[in-house]
Amino acid sequence: MFAEVIINSNAKDLNKVFDYIVPNDMKDKIKVGTRVFVPFGKGEKLEDGFIINLKSKSEFANKEIAKIEGEFLSEDKIVLAKLMARKYFCNVSDCIRLMLPPGTGGKKISSRAKEKTGNFVFLNKKIEEIDNLIVENKIKSEKQKRVLKFLEKNDGIYLPDLEIITDVSKAIIKTLEKNGFLKIEEMQIERNPFINKNVVKDTKKILNEEQKRCFDSINFCIENNEFSRHLIYGITGSGKTEIYLQLIEKVIQKQKTAIILVPEISLTPQMVDRFLARFGDIVAVLHSKLSVGERYDEWQKISNGEAKIVIGARSAIFAPVKNLGIIIIDEEHDISYKSDATPRYNAKDLAKYLAEKNNCPLVFGSATPDINTMYQAKNNKIALYTLTKRATNSELPEIEIIDLRNELAIGNKSMLSYKLQKEILENLKNKKQTILYLNRRGYSTFIMCRECGYVARCKNCNISLTYHMKENKLKCHYCGFETNVIKQCPSCGSNKVKYFGTGTQKLETEIHKLYPEASTIRLDIDTVTKKNSHEKILNSFKNENIDILIGTQMVVKGHHFPNVTLVGVVSADGSLNLDDYRAVEKTFQTLVQVSGRSGREQKGKVIIQTYNPDHYAIIDSQKQDYDLFYNQEIELRKMLNYPPFCDIIMIRFSGENLEEIKRLSNIVYKKIKSINLETISIYKPVSSPIDRIKNKYRWRIIIKCKLNSKMLDIINYALEDEKIKKNKNISIIVDINPNSMS
Ligand code: ADP
Ligand code: ZN
Ligand code: ZN
Repeated sequence: MFAEVIINSNAKDLNKVFDYIVPNDMKDKIKVGTRVFVPFGKGEKLEDGFIINLKSKSEFANKEIAKIEGEFLSEDKIVLAKLMARKYFCNVSDCIRLMLPPGTGGKKISSRAKEKTGNFVFLNKKIEEIDNLIVENKIKSEKQKRVLKFLEKNDGIYLPDLEIITDVSKAIIKTLEKNGFLKIEEMQIERNPFINKNVVKDTKKILNEEQKRCFDSINFCIENNEFSRHLIYGITGSGKTEIYLQLIEKVIQKQKTAIILVPEISLTPQMVDRFLARFGDIVAVLHSKLSVGERYDEWQKISNGEAKIVIGARSAIFAPVKNLGIIIIDEEHDISYKSDATPRYNAKDLAKYLAEKNNCPLVFGSATPDINTMYQAKNNKIALYTLTKRATNSELPEIEIIDLRNELAIGNKSMLSYKLQKEILENLKNKKQTILYLNRRGYSTFIMCRECGYVARCKNCNISLTYHMKENKLKCHYCGFETNVIKQCPSCGSNKVKYFGTGTQKLETEIHKLYPEASTIRLDIDTVTKKNSHEKILNSFKNENIDILIGTQMVVKGHHFPNVTLVGVVSADGSLNLDDYRAVEKTFQTLVQVSGRSGREQKGKVIIQTYNPDHYAIIDSQKQDYDLFYNQEIELRKMLNYPPFCDIIMIRFSGENLEEIKRLSNIVYKKIKSINLETISIYKPVSSPIDRIKNKYRWRIIIKCKLNSKMLDIINYALEDEKIKKNKNISIIVDINPNSMS
C-alpha cells in the first residue's frame, strides 16, 4: 500500500503530493487524514504531514512512512482542504492547519479537565526587549528562541502544553526562568473561560407573527433534512437571535449539531451568555482571545461530541462537529467573514458548501444585509424574511445631518458642529451618556510643511505618518514604525510644519477643553492592548456611567447601553471616498449600526456630520432605509459591472525588487490575456494605491469575471510558471472579492 502525503509547510514548491510506502505494521492504523512523519530531503530529516490518499500502486514511492502521531482528520476535511487550495490559490497544508485544534499545529496536548491547579508560563520581559535580544543574536539557542517566540503570542500557557507544542524539554524552560526571561506560576485551571457563574436559566419566548413565519419555514427544512439558504433581515432588537435559539433547539432535539458564526468583535460574554442560559454546557466557544489550552479544550469538547453548539468567529466554520444540523451566520454583512491572510477564504462560501453536504439550512441574519446576499434573496436563491418591529417595541432614534461646509462658513473651526456641541452639553446636564464615533485613531493624521508641501511619510511604506500625542511620536499605522516629532521641515528647513487632520486622540483633547467636567473613555487599537481590555472599556463606560465614549469602528457594534441617548458621527466621509467599490456600502452599514447605539431604552438622537450631505448613503442612513439604499446601490453596481454582477480577482505581487515585480506581473498578465476570453476584463499590472508597505513594493492585476471552474483553471495555469515558482523573492497572492483593494 502507498500513501500520498502533503508536507506541513507553506513553501510554494512543497505544495505537491509526495508518495510513500506504508510499512506492513502500519496498514491497519492508517487512513486518509492520518498525521504522519516521513523522511524528506537530503538529510532524511523527518517532516510531518497528512495522508490525503491511499493507493495500491506508485511509480515514485521509495521511502517508508516513519511514524504516526497526533491528530487525525476526517476524510471530508481532507476533501475540503483540497478544494480550498484550488479555489483560494494556496497550499493544501495551509488549509489543513485551519482544521486542526488551534495553535497546536496538529500536536496532541494534554487535557486538563481533571486537574485543579497547574503550572503556567509567563514572559518576564517586554516583547520588544526579547525581539531585540534575538535580532542582536544575544539569545542563540534555537529552542530558547522558539519558546520565547511562542510565548509572545501565547503568554500564560500551561507548562506541559508548552513543552509539547514547542518540542523542548522542561530543562530548557527552567533555564529561561533562571535567566529571568520567564516566570512560572501555579494557578487554578479554568476549564471554560466563558462560564459565567450567574447565568440564569432562560426560557424561550413566544414568537411574534413575523418571527413565527420565519421560524416555521426554516424549521421545515430542518425537519426534512433539506439544504436551503435563508436571510433574516431585521433591525437590531427585532428578535433574530431568539429565532436562532429556537431553531437550534429543534436541531438539538434531532440529535444534530449547530455552528453559529458571529463577528469576532461581537463575541462578547453577554452574547455567549444568552446561548449558555438557554442550552447550558453543550455550548463551546471558539475565540482568538482564548489561550491555546482553552481553545484546545473547546475543540476537544466538540470533537468528542460533548459540545453540540459551536459559537465562534470565522474559523469556527472548521470546528470538528459531526452531524451538522444548521449553520447560522449573524451580522452576515460583516467583512470579517472573509479572511485577509492565506488561505484567503470566505467563511460564507464554505458554510454553503458544508450546509449542502450535510443537507441542512444555512441562515444569514443582518439589519443591513450584504448587497450580494440581498441580491440573491431578491432573485429567489435565498429565502427572505423581513422583521419590521423591534421585539420590545422601543422607538428608533431621531437622526439629523449636519453640513460641515456651513460650519466652516460661519467660522466654526472645531471638529464638532455647534449643534452637536449643544446636544452633548444637554446630555451632560441630563446625566445621559454620549458616544462619539470617528474612524481615525491618533491625534493628527498627517504632517505637512506649508512652505514646500513636504509630507512626513513612513520610511518603509508610502503612507503618511500619524501624530500620537500621548507618546509624542509619529507612527505608521501599517508597519508600526515610530519616529520623533518634527518641528523643522527635513526638506526645506522651514519651521512652518503643521499638523493636519484629526483622530480620536485629538477629539478627546477637544472634548476636555469644551467640557472640562465631563468624564471620557476612549476605545481604539491604541487603548485596547491587553486581553479583554476591549470588554473592560465598554463595561466601565456602562457601569461607571462615564459621560462620553470616543472611539473608532470598535464602538459600532456589540453592546447594549441603556443610558446612551446621543450618538455623534464626527465625520461620515472618511470611508466614502476610498478607492473601493464597497466603500459606499460600508459607510451606509456603519452609519445605520452606530445610529442603533442610541436610544435603546429611551428616546435617542443621532447627529451625522458630513461634507457630503447629498450623498445617497448619508441620506438613506438618515432615513434608516435599507431598501432605498439597496435599490440605488444595485443600479450603480450593474452599470459599472461590480459584484454581484461579476467577481473581482486581485492578483498582488509584492517584494523588494521593483523590476522583478514588473517582469513577473507581466508574465502572468500576458498568459491570462492570451486566452482571450470575452467574458473577462483584465487590467494591466499597475502599482497598488498603497504602493509600498514595509519596504516591499506592491503591484496588482485586477480581473473582473464570473469566477467559475474554468476561470480557476486559467488562473492556476497562469501561476504555474517555472519562472514564477523559482522566484522566492516575490510573493504572489490571489484574493477573490477582497475586503480592501488598497
Ligand atoms: P436581535 O438578535 O434581532 O437583535 P433579539 O433576539 O436579541 O434581537 O431580541 C431583542 C430582545 O427582545 C431580547 O431581549 C429578546 O429576549 C427579546 N425578544 C425577542 N423575541 C421576543 C418575543 N417574541 N417576545 C418577547 N421578547 C422577545
Ligand atoms: Zn510603515
Ligand atoms: Zn518644507
